[in-house]
Amino acid sequence: MKFMLLGGIAALSLGLAVQDPLDAAEITATQVSGPVYMLEGYGGNIGLVLTEGGPVMIDDQFAQLEDKIRAAVEELAGTKNPSYVLNTHFHGDHTGSNEGFGTTSILVAHDQVRARLLAGDRREGPAPASALPVLTHADGMTLHLDGQTLELRHFPAAHTDGDSVVLFHEAKVVHMGDIMFNGMFPFIDTGSGGTVKGYLSALKSIHEDLPADWKVIPGHGPLASRADIKALHDMILATGKIVAARKAEGMSKEDCVAAGLPEEWDSWSWQFISTDSWIETLYQRLD
Ligand SMILES: [Zn+2]
Repeated sequence: MKFMLLGGIAALSLGLAVQDPLDAAEITATQVSGPVYMLEGYGGNIGLVLTEGGPVMIDDQFAQLEDKIRAAVEELAGTKNPSYVLNTHFHGDHTGSNEGFGTTSILVAHDQVRARLLAGDRREGPAPASALPVLTHADGMTLHLDGQTLELRHFPAAHTDGDSVVLFHEAKVVHMGDIMFNGMFPFIDTGSGGTVKGYLSALKSIHEDLPADWKVIPGHGPLASRADIKALHDMILATGKIVAARKAEGMSKEDCVAAGLPEEWDSWSWQFISTDSWIETLYQRLD
């Protein structure tokens, strides 16, 4: 997700003085289960697991928040330097602090995260060397850390082409990255290898595999459950069917957007992905 842009547009359209929301952002920590925490600030939700060998962090929001993130980690872990930082995908609101964390922590991600950071696919341009993952995987990997087993499961062509979902097996927690927007229309980055079909099949696969008592850290939105994964999956399927049927009848994209969606899906619309932009995603990318 690209929240910087969003903040700028919102401030301009309201004619307000622009205060960078990153300056105002504070990091809050919520214990998810045992040694696993969710940190919220501005950007993608951060996962943190405390192990004997040091903390391991999932995603790192924006560079401007690095010091605040480190302070929150220190409070929980007694050190501000995670042993590892895992990236769920390359977007700037999940890898923004990589440059700093890369000097103290081992960065881990899918091959495509490294490739896209190197190519400059983030809005910020090509990433400096210290921001690049040093351990990469092509189709998943597992970290065995002092009694904590962290599995990175790769789903091709979902939110992007380099997504990893992170499963904390002992703690029974999964960090979904941006394959989960909890209760909101998801952003699917079709310009970076994401597809509606791949997103749906990733949700289906995780939902089928996950025992009901696992907790779910979404990329965006509040802490979630297995049932919320199903709700997102079913929303995409239901709204996709509506748009596909209209498209098959020969309706143009503009007419589809004008026709809207049944009221029951109104609450999924939000600042960045409105009902209109969700219909556009579905119209262009269903087949
Ligand atoms: Zn994203």
